[in-house]
Amino acid sequence: MPVLVPTTLAETLGALADDPSATLLAGGTDSMVEYNEGRDRPAGTVIALSRVADLRTWRHDPVAGTLRVGGGVTWTELMAEPPAALVPALAEAARTVGSPQIRNAGTLGGNLATCSPAGDGLPVLSALGATVHLASVTGVRTLPVDDFMVGVKQTALQPGELISSITIPVVDGWQGYAKVGVRNAMVIAIAGACVVLDRSTRAVGIALGSVGPTVLRAPDAEAVVASSIDWATLRVPADAMSAVSDLVSAAARPITDHRSTAEYRRHAVGVLVRRLLRRASTVGARS
Ligand SMILES: Cc1cc2nc3c(=O)[nH]c(=O)nc-3n(C[C@H](O)[C@H](O)[C@H](O)COP(=O)(O)OP(=O)(O)OC[C@H]3O[C@@H](n4cnc5c(N)ncnc54)[C@H](O)[C@@H]3O)c2cc1C
Repeated sequence: MPVLVPTTLAETLGALADDPSATLLAGGTDSMVEYNEGRDRPAGTVIALSRVADLRTWRHDPVAGTLRVGGGVTWTELMAEPPAALVPALAEAARTVGSPQIRNAGTLGGNLATCSPAGDGLPVLSALGATVHLASVTGVRTLPVDDFMVGVKQTALQPGELISSITIPVVDGWQGYAKVGVRNAMVIAIAGACVVLDRSTRAVGIALGSVGPTVLRAPDAEAVVASSIDWATLRVPADAMSAVSDLVSAAARPITDHRSTAEYRRHAVGVLVRRLLRRASTVGARS
């Protein structure tokens, strides 16, 4: 098959415009598994993204309070400073992805484009209210990440477009990501959750992974946390904590599959959010 190896974004978008059915290949850690198993083999041209410098960079804008991450930035790069200090929940999610080899090759853009319900980056981007920039030869359109993720492995990406970057708010407060799987490492999440507590806007974000067709928010639980939390210590009272856990479980729409039962997933995601809020209060009490 023809493989193009562009080095600039303009060159990449031109190639994609010439052949909108071309297959994009970043780290290959999702796609190569599919190809090796005989699914979704590229029918035509493959466009390799790993040498496109514009996709491999990140930029912190302290005035806007954002971190803009190129679609081709790897998990390993997200685990390093300064991105890890700016968006610690994303670094936490990155540390749970596969093995060092997978994290060296796999990218945030690839995780988003695959849009697996178990993608570890996705709950973090949702809870933080990230936006996704989709570039084509005609320009760039920007979508909230919750609108970008449409369903199980379905996104709002159109032919001729690629994920050029993701803008992530840098939050003053606390944020954390946790997941459960059948073992501690090299594991796809059975349930995952991200909690974001924004002290400056007093906003709460709770996003759930692996318990629905795509990432789900838990707005009722967010409202209970926002109305009961002590913003000085980040402590949620015990009665509110139980209600939050129940509301998170109620927001889940899990299925039973080869990894877990729906019942366990529903229970686990409530426990994860409770644990994350407890962790927030231990840090909040010291800050
Ligand atoms: C052993 C193993 C363990 C894994 N463990 C985890 C895990 O714990 N958690 C987890 O979330 N994932 C895991 N994964 C899945 C995978 O590593 C991640 O989803 C990774 O982020 C995919 O990125 P990639 O660059 O390799 O994508 P690729 O495989 O290159 O591409 C995936 C899809 O995204 C498209 N694409 C890539 N980049 C772009 C772009 N910029 N714009 C538009 N479309 C694009 C491709 O066309 C393809 O359809 C694992 C995979 C393996 C093989």
